[in-house]
Amino acid sequence: MRVLIAGGGIGGLVLALMLHARGVACAVFEAATEIRPLGVGINVLPHSIRELVRLGLLPRLDAVAVRTRRLTYMNHLGQRIWTEPRGIHAGHDVPQFSAHRGRLHCMLWDAVFKRLGAGSVQAGQRLTGFNQDADGVTAQFTAFDGATRDIQGDVLIGADGIHSWLRARLHPLDPGVRWNGIQMWRGAVDWPAFDGGDAMVVAGDGVAKLVLYPIAPGAAPDRRLTNWVIYARVAEASAPPPGREHWARAGQPEAFRHLAGRLALPFVDVEAMIAATPEIFEYPMCDRDPLPCWSSGRVTLLGDAAHPMYPVGSNGASQAILDARCLADLLLEQPPAAALLAYEAERLPATTGVVRSNRVGGPERVIDLVASRAPLGFARVDEVATEAELTNITQGYARLAGFAVIP
Ligand SMILES: Cc1cc2nc3c(=O)[nH]c(=O)nc-3n(C[C@H](O)[C@H](O)[C@H](O)COP(=O)(O)OP(=O)(O)OC[C@H]3O[C@@H](n4cnc5c(N)ncnc54)[C@H](O)[C@@H]3O)c2cc1C
Repeated sequence: MRVLIAGGGIGGLVLALMLHARGVACAVFEAATEIRPLGVGINVLPHSIRELVRLGLLPRLDAVAVRTRRLTYMNHLGQRIWTEPRGIHAGHDVPQFSAHRGRLHCMLWDAVFKRLGAGSVQAGQRLTGFNQDADGVTAQFTAFDGATRDIQGDVLIGADGIHSWLRARLHPLDPGVRWNGIQMWRGAVDWPAFDGGDAMVVAGDGVAKLVLYPIAPGAAPDRRLTNWVIYARVAEASAPPPGREHWARAGQPEAFRHLAGRLALPFVDVEAMIAATPEIFEYPMCDRDPLPCWSSGRVTLLGDAAHPMYPVGSNGASQAILDARCLADLLLEQPPAAALLAYEAERLPATTGVVRSNRVGGPERVIDLVASRAPLGFARVDEVATEAELTNITQGYARLAGFAVIP
């Protein structure tokens, strides 16, 4: 068995580590010519951290990320709506981690490089074609200079992200990336720690939301490298998504200063934090419609290529890691085509549920609910929404996404 993995993002690299741990040969082909620490903050939930711990990566995670202790939802005036413990503090046997996406990615790339060997992970190789028959699959990769080469394997996995080439080939009628009209502005800055230095806050209302969490130590013991995201609607939900060149471009503070000014959080001066941020990016909040199937013979999709989702609820990387675990186990047990179908049968419905829930706000619906009933704030949150309502939203999402302590 030889598995070809197109895409060396978090999903593709974790799959490679898992296959290697099971004695299955594989190789990763990544389109980017150079691996750089790109992105800002990302969260990885306990159900997928458990899989990384099984790979022996806990010390490396602790070196690049922060163990998240709790999560608080607030309104835009900083009034507390809901607090819940996270990771080990919630009763899991492993932590939740908040990380710089680029540092996490580089850690995984390094682990694959060291464990599988340099030849097993190749940059500058873009998947541009494939053929399959009863005996195997041949994938074509194209280098930056246009040189192509054919690689033989038993299985081809498209872990090539939200703009997946393989997805387009398997589903030519798929309508492509969907944008809900919400723009996200993001950055990371060295900033005074809040709430113990290991907590996450999501605050806002129906107009705009702020997500705030530390992702690494700061320049002094009482400071943290703090990730922030502000997002708000800037276009109709039916608007076409911005062109590819407008993803992850530099964000201009003037575009969202008025939104930051509405956020009156007692523990952080949001406008000052934004002003101090060296680099600001803007990302459209995009996903794609769930697919009817992922697998075709010896070929399938994984992670964002299969089920990109809005970044609410911290599930993008987590679900890609769960895909990898499922697929690696099945490839060990069954012939290729049967394994890919069994993988799809397990993971497609599970991830479709998360994609759909994220479209309506995921766990952040607790904020929307309270904002709709008390847009100017409240004296007591239990006079606005009952404990049962808030529990249903947050715990319902945790069960759906598979990270509830008692599923
Ligand atoms: C540059 C970048 C920055 C990101 N920043 C953040 C962030 O700050 N916060 C956050 O929550 N999420 C971020 N994400 C998304 C997040 O990493 C994913 O949602 C999640 O980790 C699932 O990972 P994935 O491996 O499925 O997809 P991705 O992480 O998107 O990885 C896909 C990989 O496939 C490669 N690729 C694309 N086409 C081809 C091809 N034809 N052949 C071979 N390789 C190909 C891409 O270069 C990429 O490395 C970012 C993704 C990228 C690519």
